[in-house]
Amino acid sequence: MPAKPTITLIGSGLVGLLLAIELQKRGFPVRLFERRPDMRRVTISAGRSINLALSVRGIYALQQAGLWEEMQKIIIPMRGRMMHSVAGQLTFQRYGKDDSEAINSISRAELNIALMNAAEARGVRIEFNQRCTGYDMRSGKVSLRNEETGEERGVDSEVVIATDGSASAIRTEMLKLPRFNFSQQYLDYGYKELTIPAGLDGNFLLEPGALHIWPRGSFMLIALPNIDGTFACIFFLPFEGRNSFASLDTNDKVRAFFEKHFTDALRLMPNFIENYTSNPVGAMVTIKCSPWHQEGRALLLGDSAHAIVPFFGQGLNCAFEDISIFLELLDRRGPDWPNLLPEFERARKENTDAIADLALENFIEMRDRVADPRFLFRKKAELALEAKFPDRFIPKYAMVSFHRLPYSLAAARGRIQDRMLSELCDGIDRIEDLDWNKAETLVTRDLTLLEVGR
Ligand SMILES: Cc1cc2nc3c(=O)[nH]c(=O)nc-3n(C[C@H](O)[C@H](O)[C@H](O)COP(=O)(O)OP(=O)(O)OC[C@H]3O[C@@H](n4cnc5c(N)ncnc54)[C@H](O)[C@@H]3O)c2cc1C
Repeated sequence: MPAKPTITLIGSGLVGLLLAIELQKRGFPVRLFERRPDMRRVTISAGRSINLALSVRGIYALQQAGLWEEMQKIIIPMRGRMMHSVAGQLTFQRYGKDDSEAINSISRAELNIALMNAAEARGVRIEFNQRCTGYDMRSGKVSLRNEETGEERGVDSEVVIATDGSASAIRTEMLKLPRFNFSQQYLDYGYKELTIPAGLDGNFLLEPGALHIWPRGSFMLIALPNIDGTFACIFFLPFEGRNSFASLDTNDKVRAFFEKHFTDALRLMPNFIENYTSNPVGAMVTIKCSPWHQEGRALLLGDSAHAIVPFFGQGLNCAFEDISIFLELLDRRGPDWPNLLPEFERARKENTDAIADLALENFIEMRDRVADPRFLFRKKAELALEAKFPDRFIPKYAMVSFHRLPYSLAAARGRIQDRMLSELCDGIDRIEDLDWNKAETLVTRDLTLLEVGR
């Protein structure tokens, strides 16, 4: 048997690490280069968003790698959304049909560290402070700069996989090639991370089994629980305009804004102003590009191929699903890179485009519609329809978060179901008043039977 080629991965974020573990397991020597220092030894910001919501696609990839059990120690299941009104009134709304349908809050830094430890325990060598500064598609040489010493070097590589996130250096090289398609769309909104500390005895100051949302129309605050009793909050606000990061230009204005719109949350943040002023405002972008591969030896995977906005909690789940699909193809076909890489993109592209669009749609839903009683009633109706027609009607949120149906299928069925819900729910506000005969006609006429993959 010829020796397996060495695979060079650029970026030891969550995706690079999980992929390295899986490739190493399959006998491929892996080299992993990361521009940042080792976060286990140096205190650095974990990067964008301190917490992530992991759902079935991400969990499946971790299960396949034999790592999900180990993650139980660092996750907190969130069974639904807890909406906070301006007056401080709470409304809980389940995400799924029962407690088994939950999304899981996990700290990005904890997950990163757990994956680094797991990768090294399995023999993966991570080289830190190594920034990729270029890549020659023809020769396969990766250029690296040591971020501590400034030393430059080139590394020959048979296969390079870019797991270096939304500002990928390898993708920047691909941009120079003819007929490379690329689009990036920034939101007018930015985000800022804030923290609700734990209570005096380490207890949670809000209900831990929920994702908390303060929906306020053109802006919102969310909070996800951490295992240490704290909540990681993200405040979303337009960059410019009347209520915006630009207009909140003094500490007094910031405090007054929070006192007016997020009174109950502000009470739980004793270090609010320090927190607010020391954290930067992040931007959110949707990136689509193609092809994801070049010369049968370079591939974009995860955020480097398709960055999406965070409002469906799917960026990482989608990127981990990339890994599952890539490995299924690799296991089936072997390392036939010139055919495998295009096949991988064909299997994924319409799905990653679909979740990018769904994530943008969900922004409106989260910041605005979750506060609307009509929306809440439609959510109840969705669950009732699912209970009655479980192999045909699955709410869109559940198709994306609790099932491994292709995203493009979830989006297409979601559009049909939205129309159906409008027909069934308009003019009524009690589940008992649903017209079940009409529901049966619509469901059997418009929705084919589903083979539900979990
Ligand atoms: C506010 C916010 C909230 C989010 N919430 C969720 C959520 O709830 N659920 C979810 O599934 N997803 C969420 N996401 C999306 C998720 O963060 C990303 O999809 C995920 O981190 C992508 O992983 P990645 O490994 O591809 O890229 P990254 O996490 O960006 O990792 C890239 C790695 O490459 C390194 N690197 C970059 N450039 C170079 C270079 N030139 N040379 C060497 N190394 C390099 C970086 O240092 C980093 O370690 C959220 C994103 C944001 C912004």
